[in-house]
Amino acid sequence: METPSVAHKINSQKRTNDVLLSENVDFAGLLLSDPVQKGLISAGFERPSPIQLKAIPLGRCGLDLIVQAKSGTGKTCVFSVVALESLQLKSSALQVLVLAPTREIAVQIQDVIKNIGVYLPRLACHTFIGGLPVKDDIQKLKRCHIAIGSPGRVKQLIESGLMSTDSIRLLVLDEADKLLEESFQDQINWIYSTLPENKQILALSATYPEYLANHLTAYMRNPTFIRLNISDPALLGIKQYYTQVPHHPLPNKDLETKTKAVVEILSSITFKQCLIFSNYQTRAQNLCSELQAQGWPTTCIAGSLDQKERLEAMNQLKTYQCRVLISTDLTSRGIDADNVDCCLYCRHLVVLMLIK
Ligand code: ADP
Repeated sequence: METPSVAHKINSQKRTNDVLLSENVDFAGLLLSDPVQKGLISAGFERPSPIQLKAIPLGRCGLDLIVQAKSGTGKTCVFSVVALESLQLKSSALQVLVLAPTREIAVQIQDVIKNIGVYLPRLACHTFIGGLPVKDDIQKLKRCHIAIGSPGRVKQLIESGLMSTDSIRLLVLDEADKLLEESFQDQINWIYSTLPENKQILALSATYPEYLANHLTAYMRNPTFIRLNISDPALLGIKQYYTQVPHHPLPNKDLETKTKAVVEILSSITFKQCLIFSNYQTRAQNLCSELQAQGWPTTCIAGSLDQKERLEAMNQLKTYQCRVLISTDLTSRGIDADNVDCCLYCRHLVVLMLIK
């Protein structure tokens, strides 16, 4: 069976040490089941990244884990493998709940799990996210082994009795630092309180702030920490530049100068695809119209768009239909697109550029 590759071709370009293993280990060395191992290979995962090598065996042993490693080091594959290996496929009951802070991340996770799980007979893995009809969720829940959802919708489904938590044995908190920020805390606490006592918890996060430590120790019994590069918070293989933009008291003039700075940057560098982050929705949309008017194939993704439009914008990026994607902070997390090699952050009087 041929499946599209969701993984990176490790040898196709230079890789930094946080994603490349020096030891010659492959996934077979992790003693995975045949279908999962075959699925990893057909999805393009040939050798485990360092965090996968450390975390997958402990996760498979059933330990509660806190996995801290920066973005892009392969944390999604860690919990996907642990989840797939834990399933009893003969039952149609919900056994794994994955919570993610944004709808886009939930969809990406589903993509990875389905690709790695392609050889598991009748695997059912669905997303449950706001903005899409609940009646579709009811259909999906008839047979669902792994549910991936945003906290709001998952809470709603459990509360209304549509999602049963009785058989859940694994809870995954992806981007846990974001999920346990104040805005989500009540929902997560509530969901947690409905789960069976006997379950494994995996929390994955790029950072480990104090509030996260406090919450996780309340949820987990004796968690094992797996950390990568704690002494090196910088992004390996990435160069950073910034340009200062003069302030103008009139907001539209301010936008004009910032747009000019962005266009100058885009015109003077070589890049495949670029993400631009702007913290205000109207500015993001204005910048998008301006770049489109100047001939840059640009799309904008913001919280005000409905779910279909947001997924369509992500799809345009991944299928190379746009070169520039502008995002507000709300949607900025965890966007994983292979051809993105440049990011611009438009902040107060500065445009910061990160480029590979
Ligand atoms: P994180 O969750 O840590 O931000 P991801 O799990 O999203 O990172 O992985 C980042 C990218 O690297 C994804 O495109 C993923 O498919 C790819 N990737 C992860 N692990 C491997 C691997 N072992 N081999 C090849 N590509 C990988």
